[in-house]
Amino acid sequence: MVTKYLLPCTCGKKIPVESRQAGEEFLCDCGQRLTAPTMLSMRKLEPVPAETVDSGGMKPWGARQRVVLVGCIVFSAFAAWTGVLFLGRPVPPAPEMDRETIAEQVERFTPALAWRAYHIQRAVGLDRSATDRATAYEEQAVQYYTWLTAAACGALVGLGLMVIPVLMRGPTATRSD
Ligand SMILES: [Zn+2]
Repeated sequence: MVTKYLLPCTCGKKIPVESRQAGEEFLCDCGQRLTAPTMLSMRKLEPVPAETVDSGGMKPWGARQRVVLVGCIVFSAFAAWTGVLFLGRPVPPAPEMDRETIAEQVERFTPALAWRAYHIQRAVGLDRSATDRATAYEEQAVQYYTWLTAAACGALVGLGLMVIPVLMRGPTATRSD
């Protein structure tokens, strides 16, 4: 950051000068010509308060920028939620084997295989019926798409907050910054 110093005039005004402008001439509003001192002597001058120097490069944030920032945050949050929902989306149950296929397989069972199948069935227990799983999936899918729609709407609101202030930036509106 460049340090600026205040060059006092006899009229009471103070002209901000940078150290690299040492020896240069300045014209005060009163019409008087002022010569900036050497770099060494300039350090003895009153420095420009830090806030005034900063205001040249970084203007304080206006309402528009705050809205855009809020839009960014809202959009990011809902976009992340959409991603989380998508990763946890319900998986449809595997297509159930039809009765004929099962009957065919049972037909071909060797006694040893039938014995094993019986023991596996006893250990695991009977699976939920295919209709139960289909119903559970449908419920999960409805919930998933409801939340997904909500997340997408939230993301759209965030996107709107980000984009609309920029689009509405007209020649008359710039003064409000
Ligand atoms: Zn002056």
